[in-house]
Amino acid sequence: MLPKPLLFRHRLRLATCSAAGLAALLALAAVAPLAAQKPAQAAEPIAYTLRFPAPSTGYIEVEAAVPTGGRAATELMMAVWTPGSYFIREYERHVEAVTAQGADGRQLSVEKTRKNRWRIQAPAPVPRAVTVRYRVYAREMTVRNNWVDDSFAMLNGAPTFLTLADGVARPHDVRLILPDGWKTTVTALSPAPGGAPNHYRAPDYDTLVDSPIIAGAPSVHEFTVDGTAHFLVNAGDESLWDLPRTMADMSAIVSEWRRMWRFFPYPRYFFLNVLTGSGDGLEHANSSLLMTMRNQARTRRDYVSWLSLVSHEFFHAWNVKRLRPIELGPFDYESENYTRNLWIAEGFTDYYGELGLPRAKLITADEYLALLGERLQALQSRPGRLVQPLQLSSYDAWIKEYRPDENSVNSAISYYTKGGAVAFLLDARIRRATGGARSLDDAMRLAYKRYSGPRGYTTSEFRGTMAEVAGVSLDDFFARAVDSTGELDYAEALDWFGLRFRQEAPPQDDGPGRAYLGASTRGDGTGRMLVTGVLRGAPAWEAGVSTGDEIVAVGDDRVRPGLFEERLAASRPGDRISLLVARRDRVVRLDVVLGAAPGRRWAVERHPDATAEQQARLAAWLRQQ
Ligand SMILES: [Zn+2]
Repeated sequence: MLPKPLLFRHRLRLATCSAAGLAALLALAAVAPLAAQKPAQAAEPIAYTLRFPAPSTGYIEVEAAVPTGGRAATELMMAVWTPGSYFIREYERHVEAVTAQGADGRQLSVEKTRKNRWRIQAPAPVPRAVTVRYRVYAREMTVRNNWVDDSFAMLNGAPTFLTLADGVARPHDVRLILPDGWKTTVTALSPAPGGAPNHYRAPDYDTLVDSPIIAGAPSVHEFTVDGTAHFLVNAGDESLWDLPRTMADMSAIVSEWRRMWRFFPYPRYFFLNVLTGSGDGLEHANSSLLMTMRNQARTRRDYVSWLSLVSHEFFHAWNVKRLRPIELGPFDYESENYTRNLWIAEGFTDYYGELGLPRAKLITADEYLALLGERLQALQSRPGRLVQPLQLSSYDAWIKEYRPDENSVNSAISYYTKGGAVAFLLDARIRRATGGARSLDDAMRLAYKRYSGPRGYTTSEFRGTMAEVAGVSLDDFFARAVDSTGELDYAEALDWFGLRFRQEAPPQDDGPGRAYLGASTRGDGTGRMLVTGVLRGAPAWEAGVSTGDEIVAVGDDRVRPGLFEERLAASRPGDRISLLVARRDRVVRLDVVLGAAPGRRWAVERHPDATAEQQARLAAWLRQQ
């Protein structure tokens, strides 16, 4: 619900904009997200009431009326992960004091049957419903968890709601009783029948999990694109933001993805934006939950990075929330859901998230090329690219992408980074193969048309659709870029758009004139300098420097954090230095031959000799005409 006093309308002078009334908006029937597009079931709802009697303690008190279906045993479960974040988070660890009562108020037995399951036994005559009560501790400020304090609550479905473990689709009603001083709640959920404030109905558990809720006193800013209402919902101090500008920029992003996909897949969309001390985002079918630094708009670089996040999460409304790998639905909420295609779901979204910015005229073509170069630099300077194929990076997301350690850089690759690079190459490949007539945009639209239903796409279906649009076989392309650890070849893509890698940086930069060790270090606060990571194949790696080593001296000179970098800067590539390191309370001398800093070899720039045709292709790609 959006009470009128909290709804600030900003008039945007966009050709596609029109004002939409709040009443008309709320009267809109919700379009069910993908997971909910099953036949409607007549199953009885679970009805939750959420209270916050002492919000400063971080607790949510949950009361749920759970239908028994006439069975003596009622099994409840809590999800152990949430879609979009592929990691077992064990949400059940924050659940406390689960109790159950029958209709007559009698306490029922509650037995824990798994880490995330509870079984309630009701003696005959079995009541139609049991009342389950529990507490959830909610103090994790991330987009996939809960937060409650005295001023507001950020609630996600997976870490909040126990549900029946019977797998039957049924409505889930949620009513929030707000503490004094809190004014409202905002969520993409539809109002429950009856239209009482702060009372919502999810047609099924998937939708409940997919619909975060903000409660407190958020400020709600509406903008309309092509007749469809969008809301920026700020929870927290927004005083450092230029709101009209922010909304105009968000509107440009929304318009751009509307233009590419040619439709909005939802009746209305919410950007739920928690202004706090960190940044992140999680996609949902009809909303995204963003976490934004309060001062994120202070520099252009930070602001552009935020716009890129907005663009990325919003693009997911199509790519992954509705066009998805076959394995990502229906979800098993109690264990890992493996797919080899997160490089499409996340990597392509990452590519488009950035590409949307020059297309929406929010950054220049050269600023975009800098972002692309940063992506390729990150990929090409990571030894793990030669170890883990892209499809395996996706498959192992549960144990690697979300569990990085000091050696991840050597052993793994991010499906965001490399997936985005592969999307760039594939886009260029399709354009080249079709003489510029088609692009990855066309291929994504065709994939959406075919596979955005409840089933999803298989690997071969998605790849086949890409090849069909390209009009040529892409078997070799995918085999190399996705299934192998072979180096990517950028020559063809750069040539198509009239681009090149920047010529070597000058030596005073981090270029080739500077000595290079290939180990990261940090001070431990007591004057000791510790090695925190060693790059495979780098001089430190070859010399036997290990993570955890304390670097005590270079030659006979004692080193301290900060001074080591200075010492290195005074050396030249090829210099031989002797490192004294302490390792497990013994000292060891290591001879290191310093290398040359790799420099930013992968920065992308326009080729000065680009032909008019190449320049036109670049302009078409970035929509700079
Ligand atoms: Zn994403």
